[in-house]
Amino acid sequence: MLRPQAGACFALWPSSTVARVPHGSLRLGVFGGTFDPPHVGHLVTAINVRHALVLDTVLLMVANQPWQKLGSRPITSASQRLAMVRAAVADVPGLEAGDLEIVHGGPSYTADTLEALQRVHPGAQLFTIMGDDAAAHFYTWERYQQVAALSTLVVVDRPGNHVELPSGFDWERVEVPRLDVSSTDLRDRVVDGRPLDYLVTAPVLAMISELGLYQEGG
Ligand code: NAP
Repeated sequence: MLRPQAGACFALWPSSTVARVPHGSLRLGVFGGTFDPPHVGHLVTAINVRHALVLDTVLLMVANQPWQKLGSRPITSASQRLAMVRAAVADVPGLEAGDLEIVHGGPSYTADTLEALQRVHPGAQLFTIMGDDAAAHFYTWERYQQVAALSTLVVVDRPGNHVELPSGFDWERVEVPRLDVSSTDLRDRVVDGRPLDYLVTAPVLAMISELGLYQEGG
């Protein structure tokens, strides 16, 4: 289990089976998202970035209020999105669901999240992981300079397609097999009655069905 280090002030951490990789300081990846819903593209990305950068753990950090998306469509409650992410990573070594932004409340700013993680894990090396679309708009993030100062910026590249990134930052590029699956398409599939099998994990699929999520579209 990824536990806060001595003197930390946060206590709410999900359980996991992660084993600490035997090297110096904790190397912690933060892969933030709305995860509405989480899908296999997210999992393949997190697993491959963890492997490529030898990270102890990748936290799939569930945004409480993705402030840049508010008003654009109905967003599933934070607790239901967190439950889906927990279900998605339950059997995956080295991946954990992060609830810090939900515990914090209000709009989710990555700079705040990294500051909180620094307090919880003093001395840890933090890696902010994002897809190429998010990376292209990185300069629109709240206090993006602070995000760059507190963490190594990691962009996930499609094989053979290296996107142009905002200049002035040291980007770490990791190539992962990019799967053409998106949360938007998955929500549309529910509305249309098309299958989601293998695009999300079976426990996530069961949860979407049991909770009746995405029936209304949006
Ligand atoms: P999302 O739609 O749930 O996506 C989460 C991440 O997964 C994104 O980086 C996305 O990359 C990536 N992804 C999606 N489909 C993928 C696939 N098939 N293969 C590989 N990667 C895939 O989340 P989001 O709403 O875009 O939010 C991303 C994060 O950015 C959140 O943590 C949010 O808080 C953060 N953010 C922060 C601020 C700030 O002010 N600090 C502002 C905006 C966003 P793409 O973006 O390339 O699709």
